[in-house]
Amino acid sequence: MSKGKLSERISHFNIVEELKSKGLYAYFRPIQSKQDTEVMIDGKRVLMFGSNSYLGLTIDPRIIEAAQDALSKYGTGCAGSRFLNGTLDIHIELEHKLSQLVGKEASILFSTGFQSNLGPISCLMGRNDYILLDERDHASIIDGSRLSFSKVIKYGHNDMDDLRAKLSRLPSESAKLIVTDGIFSMEGDIVNLPEMVKIADEYDAALMVDDAHSLGVIGEHGAGTASHFGLTDKVDLIMGTFSKSLASLGGFVAGDADVIDYLKHNARSVMFSASMTPASVASTLKALEIMISEPEHMENLWKNTNYAKQLLLESGFDLGATESPILPIFIRNNEKTFWVTKMLQDDGVFVNPVVSPAVPSEESLIRFSLMATHTFDQIDEAVEKMVRVFKQAEIESLI
Ligand code: PMP
Repeated sequence: MSKGKLSERISHFNIVEELKSKGLYAYFRPIQSKQDTEVMIDGKRVLMFGSNSYLGLTIDPRIIEAAQDALSKYGTGCAGSRFLNGTLDIHIELEHKLSQLVGKEASILFSTGFQSNLGPISCLMGRNDYILLDERDHASIIDGSRLSFSKVIKYGHNDMDDLRAKLSRLPSESAKLIVTDGIFSMEGDIVNLPEMVKIADEYDAALMVDDAHSLGVIGEHGAGTASHFGLTDKVDLIMGTFSKSLASLGGFVAGDADVIDYLKHNARSVMFSASMTPASVASTLKALEIMISEPEHMENLWKNTNYAKQLLLESGFDLGATESPILPIFIRNNEKTFWVTKMLQDDGVFVNPVVSPAVPSEESLIRFSLMATHTFDQIDEAVEKMVRVFKQAEIESLI
């Protein structure tokens, strides 16, 4: 039987089949329980070290109750975009609270973090303008810049000399926007914001920081990267998601009121997409309240991060330049990375494999991330198992 056109078109894509045939496929793993420090997979208890729930709030009964109350009051969905029939009073309340948290005049919600980058980045710069991106920026930043009509230039990862050199060659009359992750999602390092702010000033470029992994992790009350460096006034746009520390789904961008007003009427990912569901808004509001009023969650996250980092370094793991609860454990070989992920899961530890094309094969890694609610015993157990599995895989940094 001849293959259909679509099957023919994608026939070169055989990595999934190859991994499945070797028993190494590690994506779309179905979890049968809540996103907690331990989850159930295939009916078995597995320690979760691959979660973005940094503050461990997805299981907080107060947040679950807030979501249930919102479901009862507002129903299951808003049946339209914010722009038309889909704005609730709690959307506006959440926008006010986020603006206050990050120290900006105004903000606008989006239904996912991905859309919070896609819409704004694609509509801010024009045909003769430039968007400058860190080569390790998140996919949603890259896709936003692809959708814009402006020219896109990448600079080396967190390489401020390269950024300066690239900006120095651009026409002075063009508008420029630099977009960077605050904490980089795979490597765990923090952007060199103090230097970046100086460069942006020098070349009159606007600056947008993606705080997906920084909210609830760094800054005053978990306000993110600009707050962490005391540079809130120097960052034009602060973007964040609710799918990580804030235990929900959705995202926002905050900035000057006129810019936010422009985004509300030009960013297509908000205008032409249904608004955040009532339960997502209410759970974000409650998580935000808890994050601000109970600093112990962020303190515990850092206690766990420092404990795990020291233990992993003492055990001989290669952690790169991380400065956050994202601990990249470099394996530097795609196949071994899949093998280690599989062996660890069989041994009761969930971690995420990060391989090419997400990173070059020689930089492939296991992404080990901490939550405020992990116990030292859970960390000890995971590290002990990792030492064993890495030795079996003959990974050089441990031999
Ligand atoms: N930005 C960064 C840096 C991210 O890591 C992610 C999610 N992995 C997003 C944006 C998109 O956020 P969400 O998953 O909430 O849509």
